[in-house]
Amino acid sequence: MNITALGNAVGTGDEGVFAEVIEVKSLDTLAVLGKNKLSGKIIFFNRPMDQTQIQTGHAYGMAGDQRRSGPAEAARYGAKGVVVRTLSTAFDDFPHTGSTVYTEGVKKIPAVAISTNDADRLSEMLKRNRNLKFYFETHCQMLPEVLSYNVVGQLNGTEKPDEYIILGGHLDSWDLAEGAHDDGTGVVQAIEALRTFKALGYRPKHSIRAVLFMNEENGLAGGKEYAVLASKNNEKHIAAIESDGGGFTPRGFRLDVNDAALKQIQRWSPLFQPYDIHKFEAGESGSDVEPLKDQQVNLIGLSVDSQRYFDMHHSALDVFEIVNRRELLLGSAAMASLIYLIDQYGLESNTAGTR
Ligand SMILES: [Zn+2]
Repeated sequence: MNITALGNAVGTGDEGVFAEVIEVKSLDTLAVLGKNKLSGKIIFFNRPMDQTQIQTGHAYGMAGDQRRSGPAEAARYGAKGVVVRTLSTAFDDFPHTGSTVYTEGVKKIPAVAISTNDADRLSEMLKRNRNLKFYFETHCQMLPEVLSYNVVGQLNGTEKPDEYIILGGHLDSWDLAEGAHDDGTGVVQAIEALRTFKALGYRPKHSIRAVLFMNEENGLAGGKEYAVLASKNNEKHIAAIESDGGGFTPRGFRLDVNDAALKQIQRWSPLFQPYDIHKFEAGESGSDVEPLKDQQVNLIGLSVDSQRYFDMHHSALDVFEIVNRRELLLGSAAMASLIYLIDQYGLESNTAGTR
């Protein structure tokens, strides 16, 4: 079976992990089975993403506890290692990684993902042979932190240069591929929006920034630091837009704003109707801009068609070749258009009380 270590996971070293496998579909089952049954075993979390969810992000959220908390929880019951069914909507042979979070004071045990096909195969094999043993070996290790940077490009405002509208995505990706959709496309779209304004000779009232955030995937250091600096430098942010759902056909925007701003932005949705990008709904924005929430910033996420994203997300399939140029550009144009409207007509600040 193809495996990938989970992000932040400890390695097994040369000796590997070799043990019987206990298959479970939920974290709650661990408490039911208890230490007697789980100690010294490999726990296999095998709850698939729910295929009936039309927004695949919801299905990802619903299945994600297995990868995020599964290893830490299994360790409480003396498990030797963890195998997680890949969080993917596709049925193929590619394992997908992503971060897992250990619990302070609980032993860190090795954890890997296997593909959806392999997960089904392992489950079948376990039905035929309860005593089946599984072996895996990983050599990952945590290296010391290094200094890194967000990258910021800016068009200076002509009327209110000290007020900012920002858009961005994140520079980092998991290492199985270059992370084209997660989140190379968000990065390119942010740069492309600024290029568009320049090419049109547009001189914005507010300063407009493309922010390429660092370290979204395993800690959000770039997003957090950006918010700290914005506060420290007294930079008033009007709105922050993130593209981190892949460079797919845009559908509209998810708005984490107060009621007044929601109504105001929704009034613009007919302008986007000719492009089929008019789904303007309340929702979560993006993890890099989230830390700005405390500063009453209107947070906005580009909504895209989500059907294919989790097929390649965090796997070796997330390469430049699969990005569609037209879909990518439509997303960038949609964000540039919304920024233009906010720049021209302003936007009420996102008062904390209404959240
Ligand atoms: Zn991402």
